[in-house]
Amino acid sequence: MPAYVAGASRWESDTFPLVDPTDGTVVGHVPECSADTVDEAVSAAGAALRGPWGDTCPEDRAALLRRIAGRIQDRFDEFVDAEVRDTGRPRAFAETVDVPRAIGNFRAYADLLYGSAERAYHTAIPGWSAGSGRVLNYSLRRPLGVVAVISPWNLPLLLMTWKVAPALAAGNTVVAKPSEETPSSAALLAEVIHEVGPPPGVFNLVHGHGPGGAGEFLTAHPGVDAIAFTGASATGSAIMRAAAANVTPVSFELGGKNPALVFADADPAEAVAGTLRSAFAHSGQICLCTERVYVERPIFAEFVAALGERARALTGYGPMISADHRDKVLSYYRMAAAGGATVVAGGGVPVFGDARDQGFYVEPTVLTGLPENARPVREEIFGPVCHVAPFDTEDEAVLLANDSPYGLAAAVWTRDLSRAHRVASRIEAGTVWVNCWNVRDLRTPFGGMKASGIGREGGEHSLDFFSEPVNVCVQI
Ligand code: NAD
Repeated sequence: MPAYVAGASRWESDTFPLVDPTDGTVVGHVPECSADTVDEAVSAAGAALRGPWGDTCPEDRAALLRRIAGRIQDRFDEFVDAEVRDTGRPRAFAETVDVPRAIGNFRAYADLLYGSAERAYHTAIPGWSAGSGRVLNYSLRRPLGVVAVISPWNLPLLLMTWKVAPALAAGNTVVAKPSEETPSSAALLAEVIHEVGPPPGVFNLVHGHGPGGAGEFLTAHPGVDAIAFTGASATGSAIMRAAAANVTPVSFELGGKNPALVFADADPAEAVAGTLRSAFAHSGQICLCTERVYVERPIFAEFVAALGERARALTGYGPMISADHRDKVLSYYRMAAAGGATVVAGGGVPVFGDARDQGFYVEPTVLTGLPENARPVREEIFGPVCHVAPFDTEDEAVLLANDSPYGLAAAVWTRDLSRAHRVASRIEAGTVWVNCWNVRDLRTPFGGMKASGIGREGGEHSLDFFSEPVNVCVQI
């Protein structure tokens, strides 16, 4: 799959292999974009801002986003194939989550764009000053300029389009870099954008690794006006250091160690089923997945037994994204066992007796009995694993949930309405779900507290990040 720079496909002499995580085979080669290619992409994006794209009206940009959504819909199966091949995820997941959400991302910002652009242009504050007499203030939104979009491997198309759509909606130009593990759907996105025909340079795609590669070239580039990044918190720190040199604004969606609080008054079946899903969806490789479960003591034993039984019965799950990531997850499984954990379910590598035994699978795993300061309880594992611990009071539950460097998402399971609102307001997380998990409305603020991110995206929040407000003060 080629890169895409200044409206044309681009190959590089340097490439790296793309590996199918279901069986470890090499299925293609990806260009490792050089510093020169990244520089050309940034220059093309800068030039496009000064061309006709800089004068497009919101309706035209909304129409472009709708055409992109329409072409993804037309080529739905190709996008599904690309996501399945790169990630090894079950096909149904790509068909019901990844590709529909990518289409939804473009449609949502097309819908939002017109209304919010109108509102911004119509915000006016009349005033008076002793020297100047009457004045009228009104505010405009201007694009930030060239936006670097850097995305991870876990939801490749969904997370890239989550930033590309609002960046284009706000009138920016984009240089995007997908994860080196999952470049295929981004290459298809470049094809689709080419087909719908914005001016060359409005959207550019570079491939390659992060440190010492295209990611670092892009984030350190003085021609980049903003960085929208989703990935690990440690990578966020590295990007912040690179961005500091040019005081480049950043929007960060980072890691998590998300808690679920299960109160004794919760619907038992729903709490178990919801926690099963929140811990094991996409083999735990969703940033919002639950890795810490706290259960009120009277129902603890029953809950653990039910969750363990359901986890052991899971089938049809996908692999870890790579051999390295599988080894990382397994190192936490071993650490937990060595640290005295009770392994209620899983804890190792499944044996299928077919080609998947060469792939990067790990068992869905439920642990109990570790102290709160154990590394498997504190650090993000990003695999199909959760640790379950008991609590006695609401205050203790909130303290346990908040005792983490992260603050991305949380789930609360209770039938007590007052408690639900009370606890939700005390949890340090960007999103709190009550009696549900991962229900998303694209207009709501999305992001993390503490090491889980900087800023919020979603709806108006994205348009706020991807544009600069300008106040115009006119003496009248
Ligand atoms: P990662 O940070 O290793 O890589 C993400 C992207 O950053 C990749 O494209 C990579 O090439 C690039 N990159 C790496 N080092 C870089 C550097 N020094 N400079 C510039 N770019 C660099 O993350 P990952 O392993 O791909 O994804 C998993 C992580 O992402 C987990 O921590 C997960 O929680 C997080 N995540 C967060 C959210 C969210 O919305 N908060 C969503 C999905 C994933």
